[in-house]
Amino acid sequence: MREKEDMVSSYRPVIIGAGVAGCAFAYHLTKQNEKPIVIEKKAGIGGKACTGLVSKRITDLINLPKKLIKNRVKTAVVHFPNGDMEVKGKEEAIVLDREGFVEELYERAKKGGAEFLFNERLLRFVVADKVIFKTEKRTKKTDVLIGADGVGSVVAQKYGLYSKTKSVTQAFAEYDTDVVEIFLGQDYGYPFGYVVPYEKGTSIIGVGGGRPNLEKFLDFLGAKKVFKWQAGAIPVSYPKYSAFERVLMAGDAGGFVKAFSGGSININLMLAKIGATAVKKAYDSGNFSTRFLSQNYEKVWKNKIGKDLKDNFLIRNVYDSMGESEFSMLYDLLQHEEVKRAISEKADMDFYSEVFRTIIKNKKAWGLGLRMILKNPSLIRGFF
Ligand SMILES: Cc1cc2nc3c(=O)[nH]c(=O)nc-3n(C[C@H](O)[C@H](O)[C@H](O)COP(=O)(O)OP(=O)(O)OC[C@H]3O[C@@H](n4cnc5c(N)ncnc54)[C@H](O)[C@@H]3O)c2cc1C
Repeated sequence: MREKEDMVSSYRPVIIGAGVAGCAFAYHLTKQNEKPIVIEKKAGIGGKACTGLVSKRITDLINLPKKLIKNRVKTAVVHFPNGDMEVKGKEEAIVLDREGFVEELYERAKKGGAEFLFNERLLRFVVADKVIFKTEKRTKKTDVLIGADGVGSVVAQKYGLYSKTKSVTQAFAEYDTDVVEIFLGQDYGYPFGYVVPYEKGTSIIGVGGGRPNLEKFLDFLGAKKVFKWQAGAIPVSYPKYSAFERVLMAGDAGGFVKAFSGGSININLMLAKIGATAVKKAYDSGNFSTRFLSQNYEKVWKNKIGKDLKDNFLIRNVYDSMGESEFSMLYDLLQHEEVKRAISEKADMDFYSEVFRTIIKNKKAWGLGLRMILKNPSLIRGFF
């Protein structure tokens, strides 16, 4: 049962980090009539390197104002070393005004009663009868703490959660295209080079690695004028554990990113809703145990997206073991009619599992599969 009102107000849910995960969580908590406190080490919202490419599913997850849609794209062209392949999605993808989007979540959370404390860094915390946490400015107690503090999370470190990360550098550059372009192969950085049409005359162009990789890629594309450079890191993991006594993990801090594509915005929106419901139930029942939070948070998201996140991690590991000759084999495989059909029927920007599993069951994929397993025997565990 809830404690007395004054106690509740002082033990409001605390979210560490005001990125897209933290702001989405705060917004959904306010929809559950909770008034979270969000602690952010930076002076304000925004400044995150992100392309903002999401599937149209985002419009089912949140009421998205039109002004935040910079572009819509229906076709992707994948460039392999030995040929190009066009993939047409069933539905168009959306390119967001990414800064505007996190600002929108922040405004909605604030309007719902969330309080944001900027210029304040979480230093450490312990879990006793409550969570006792220390920032640069105060020591405070809360009933439940949500770790949404991104890559290098203080909250994740406490639980020994570790995600490998890969750096990505991107630029808003003068370049005109109306399709998403993906370049596979070591020549174009790691894990791949991408071009996403942002607005007329401007695309977001990025590669794995640092600025020298991107400069090489921009040269290759003939994109000369850069308006803005951005760099960031993407976790590459599967978030096996995300609920502990009085603590939940969210966003990059918990490793909630599709390990292959690096996309997470829609996942964060989905998780925030599940998480906020779990937190509300915890307050209502007075139960903040690992078991209760696991059942109401971890189990729920695993049922919805667990298999896909796992397969994404596997695809990423397969990809990381591939060389130029395997990319060419993959291209040849993708030219077979039944494989093409599986892609056109089952390809989904958010969920790769179904199309991936359909392709690997096809006999034509076995040669490449065997070659990858011989190259990296640990991959076999991921297939079963
Ligand atoms: C280059 C790039 C391109 C991407 N493109 C896409 C894309 O097209 N589509 C897509 O869906 N996803 C994309 N992503 C992934 C997506 O942007 C991230 O996964 C997502 O922004 C993570 O949000 P977050 O809130 O978990 O983390 P962050 O946005 O990093 O927020 C964490 C916040 O916590 C704060 N913080 C950290 N430590 C503390 C502390 N100790 N105390 C207080 N505050 C703290 C930080 O200052 C930060 O504001 C991309 C990522 C990168 C790097």
